Amino acid sequence: MNNQHPALITILDFDIVDLRFPTSEEAHGSDAVHVDPDYSAAYVVLRTDARTHDGAPLEGYGLTFTIGRGNEIVCQAIRSLMPLVQGQTLAHIAHDRRGFWRSLAQDSQFRWLGPEKGVMQLALAAIVNAVWDLEARVAGVPLWKLLANMPAEELVAATDLHGIRDAVDEAAMLAMLHANDATRDARIKHVENAGFPAYTTSCGWIGYSDETIRTRCREALNDGFTHFKMKIGQSIEDDVRRARIIRQEIGANGVLMVDANQRFDVQQAIEWIKPLAQFNLWWFEEPISPDDILGHAEIARAIQPIRVATGEQCQNRVMFKQFLASGGMQICQLDSCRVGGVNDNLAIMALARRYGVPVCPHAGGVGLCELVAHLIMVDYIRFNPSMDGRVCEFVDHLHEHFVDPCSVVNGRYRAPTLPGYSTQVKPESLIAFAFPHGPEWTRRTKTKGVSR
Ligand SMILES: [Mg+2]
Repeated sequence: MNNQHPALITILDFDIVDLRFPTSEEAHGSDAVHVDPDYSAAYVVLRTDARTHDGAPLEGYGLTFTIGRGNEIVCQAIRSLMPLVQGQTLAHIAHDRRGFWRSLAQDSQFRWLGPEKGVMQLALAAIVNAVWDLEARVAGVPLWKLLANMPAEELVAATDLHGIRDAVDEAAMLAMLHANDATRDARIKHVENAGFPAYTTSCGWIGYSDETIRTRCREALNDGFTHFKMKIGQSIEDDVRRARIIRQEIGANGVLMVDANQRFDVQQAIEWIKPLAQFNLWWFEEPISPDDILGHAEIARAIQPIRVATGEQCQNRVMFKQFLASGGMQICQLDSCRVGGVNDNLAIMALARRYGVPVCPHAGGVGLCELVAHLIMVDYIRFNPSMDGRVCEFVDHLHEHFVDPCSVVNGRYRAPTLPGYSTQVKPESLIAFAFPHGPEWTRRTKTKGVSR
C-alpha cells in the first residue's frame, strides 16, 4: 500500500471531527435508558509524511462511539493526548506496542482522569484504533489478518497484562496462543469462506411500533438471521407483548435474547425476567449497573438457564477479569471502542479464553460493526477456536458512510478484505454530519430550532 518503510513514516499531525448522525429522529438505537440517541463518533485522522503507492497522503483513521451530547468532550480528550503521539515513527510504535499503549493509558498526569475508564478510555480507543489502522494499511492487509498472522510473542508483547496477571500472565497467554497455532491456517480459510455468525438487534428497538417490529423480524429472517435481540425495561406488559410478537415471527427455532441496558436493580431484574422466561431466552444483557460485578453474579445464579451477558460498558480489563471470574459475565460482550482499543481487547480475549466464556461482541452504533468484524475473526483464529454458541451483534444502520463498510451476508459477517481497520468515513459524510456546523445540522437548526 505504501512506498516507504515504517521507520520512515512519521505521524506528524492530526484532524479530529465531531461526527453526529440524527438517529433519534426515527428511534433507531432506542432502549430503556438511552431513549433518544444520536449515534456519534469522535473521529481522528493521523496524518503522516508518507504517501501511498498511488500518491495519496498516507493516513490512519480511528474512532470511538458515543450517542450524542458530550461527543465534543471525547474529541477534546483526543486532542489533549495527541502530543504524546505526534512525531513518533510507525516503526518505533510497532517495536514496542505495549509501551506505546501504556504511554497513553498511564501517562503520569492524564491517568488521574481515569485511570483507564470513562472519557479518557474512549479517547484512547480512537487513537489506538487509528494507529492499528495505519499499521495495517502500511502492511497492505486488513487488520484481522495482520493479527491472525502475527507471531504469538508479538501479540503478547503488544498486550498490557498489568492488573490481570493473577488470571493470565505472559506465559499463560503465550501458551493459549501456541495451542491454537497448528490449526490457525484452517480457521483463516474458514472465515474467508464462511465469515462469522451475526445476530440482529434492528428488530427490537424499544421505540418501534408493533408493526415495525413484525416487519423488521420478517426482513431479518429473509436476510438469513437466526438470532434476534429485543430491548426491554420500560413496561413489563409491553415487553411481554413485544416478546410474543418476535417469538411468533421467528418461530420456535429462532434464538431470542433481551437487553435492559442497565435499567434495573438486582432484585428488580430477577423479577422482571420471570414473565419473559416463557419465550425461551438465551441471554439477559446488561440487567443492572455495568459496574456491579457481584450483582451480575447474583442474577446469573437466580435466572439460570438464562445467561447473563455484559461488557459493552465494562471499563477495562481488570473489571473484565472480575466479571469473568465471578460468574457474572457468562457472555463476554467486548466492545471495539469502550476499552483502550485493539491492545486492550487482546487482553480481554485472553481472559475470556481463560475462563471459558464465549465472546459475542457488542456492535451497532456507528462504526462498531465495521471494527468488530475484525476483532471477532482475531478471537476465533487466535484465542477461542470454535464458533459454537458464538454470535456477533449486527445493526443495519449508517454503514453507507464508510469507505469499507462491513458486509453481513446470509446472517454472517464477511471477513474484511481491504487494508486497514475499516474505520475510514467517506469525506462527504465527514462534511455533511460534522457537528454543529455541517449542513445536515445547520439545516435542522434552521427548520426545527433543534439544539442537541
Ligand atoms: Mg446492549
